[in-house]
Amino acid sequence: MLLKDKTLLITGVLMDSSIAFHVARLAQEQGATVILTSFGRTMKITQTIAKRLPSTPPVIELDVANQDDLNSLTERLGEHTDRLDGVLHSIGFAPQGAFNFLECGWEDVATAIQISSFSLKALGVAALPLMGEGGSIVGLTFDARYAWPVYDWMGVAKAAFESTNRYLARDLGPKGIRCNLVSAGPIRTTAAKSIPGFEQFERVWDERAPLGWNVSDPVPTAQACVMLLSDWFPATTGEMLHVDGGVHAMGQ
Ligand code: NAD
Repeated sequence: MLLKDKTLLITGVLMDSSIAFHVARLAQEQGATVILTSFGRTMKITQTIAKRLPSTPPVIELDVANQDDLNSLTERLGEHTDRLDGVLHSIGFAPQGAFNFLECGWEDVATAIQISSFSLKALGVAALPLMGEGGSIVGLTFDARYAWPVYDWMGVAKAAFESTNRYLARDLGPKGIRCNLVSAGPIRTTAAKSIPGFEQFERVWDERAPLGWNVSDPVPTAQACVMLLSDWFPATTGEMLHVDGGVHAMGQ
């Protein structure tokens, strides 16, 4: 029971393929109370998928690009809890234009950065009034230290996301709140399928992962998120933990 008596806010459950779905499932199995977020037209889908969890959690509205949603988050959470021990940021979006590096215009880049990078700060600040000593914020990235095939401006947005995590760790550390990322290998989710040429990542992982890699298995990634949300990394913050079959450590 790694998460016994903890209350977690989990964003990003869209389908049961979503990484966040498996974090929510494992978190409940490990003793946590879970509250999900969703937004707009996807709200109904999330509510349906939430019923597939061991116990059906409430789903509250949160579009990270909507300041009203962010401002009212703690008040609306107040119907369900008076504190949060952890927050999972499992949100990524870039318009299709962002996957053409040389042709992409600023508007598409701005959207990618707002929703995929700045949102980590926005969510952290919105949740802060309910968090305290021992709190944990965990996000998901795709190692942005490298230029990948096809990832393009989403890769640049992930680099900003990783930097945002370090600054958030700096500013929330004195409040006893940790901020960490899990850098996952490619997993077949809705977000992944929206990346044109995603199968090129699968080829890289087939060739380079010393441990091998299963693109249909989000569980190792979700397990790492649960560990970082637990009390078992009490002195770790600003970190990026790789769950990628070892690809990040290989030269070729
Ligand atoms: P997913 O499509 O299941 O989840 C993406 C989520 O982002 C969805 O639930 C969607 O509703 C949410 N979202 C998009 N715009 C939003 C907004 N404005 N406000 C609130 N939520 C919004 O895909 P996933 O692969 O589970 O993605 C989760 C995270 O994992 C993302 O940050 C993604 O970049 C990261 N990641 C994915 C992979 C992969 O290969 N799938 C690898 C490494 C990291």
